[in-house]
Amino acid sequence: TENARVAVVTGGNKGIGLEVCRQLAGNGATVFLTARDEARGVAAVEKLRDLGLSDVLFHQLDITDAPSIARLAEFLKTRFGKLDILVNNAAVGAVEYVQDPVSSSTSSDQKFSGMDELQRLQWMFQNVRETCDSANEGVQTNYYGTKHVIQALLPLLKASPDGRIINVSSGFGLLRLFNNEELKQELNDVEKLTEERLDEVLAVFLRDFEAGAVEARGWPIYCSAYKVAKAAMNAYSRILARRHPELRVNCAHPGYIKTDITMNSGPLTAEEGASNVVKVALLLEGGPTGTYFALGQEAPFV
Ligand code: NDP
Repeated sequence: TENARVAVVTGGNKGIGLEVCRQLAGNGATVFLTARDEARGVAAVEKLRDLGLSDVLFHQLDITDAPSIARLAEFLKTRFGKLDILVNNAAVGAVEYVQDPVSSSTSSDQKFSGMDELQRLQWMFQNVRETCDSANEGVQTNYYGTKHVIQALLPLLKASPDGRIINVSSGFGLLRLFNNEELKQELNDVEKLTEERLDEVLAVFLRDFEAGAVEARGWPIYCSAYKVAKAAMNAYSRILARRHPELRVNCAHPGYIKTDITMNSGPLTAEEGASNVVKVALLLEGGPTGTYFALGQEAPFV
């Protein structure tokens, strides 16, 4: 429709992203469900069309592929001249899923009793294997991929009267998981922090990873690349929010959700996770920016 808000969702073909598309379209936005794989993306759009959501459209987007990002930006510029809502949802687990650590004899609900959400996630991922390749892929996709999409679409978001960026974050991106106090403070001091320093921090992380010094150097352990990349994305979101006060740039932790990235563990459904993201996307005009939301509520980045 003519005056509808235009939204882009990355990694929209399955999991939380697909549900975000469904819920945003249900709220009257024109939604571009994007996916790196055209066939999977088109199939997902057809699923939503079958539910009667005609304002969901497909556009290819691999967030690690510069030409793919440029094609999406060019298309949106020509077609709408603006973008109202960008949901950066696409991410990789950045681990090798060697085995399902939840034994089939005990339901995860039993194992999880008495643990809070972060403890559950930590427990679930303590046995997965990270390699230099998976760590590098995690940083390149979850941090740099997201950043490059934002950079390309920023002029279009600024052309909107109420441009919003929602970065799907994670409890695994919280700074409390870092054991290096100095770094923790540095990443939390967004008045001083720069993009260039974030690049350095990520380069040092990958070097330490290769040297087998993740724990010794105080980086988060278990899924360390995923955690470091999400923490960097949080910090970058806060830098952006300060630099572009006319936009709203927020981070949303969906909760611990049954999707492929968690090997379908977790107490919540994709629908519930997505609603925690969409709530942030649809905040009233003039709402907060540079803020972290966990399960729909404002919470600290630490
Ligand atoms: P899924 O694995 O189900 O979905 C991940 C999506 O990201 C897929 O659509 C995948 O596409 C896409 N993707 C991966 N790499 C790229 C790329 N290079 N370009 C474009 N798309 C890509 O996981 P979830 O739905 O759970 O994850 C969605 C978001 O939620 C992520 O940011 C994740 O970190 C976050 N999150 C999830 C939690 C959970 O408990 N599930 C908890 C906290 C945060 P493809 O199908 O092609 O692989």
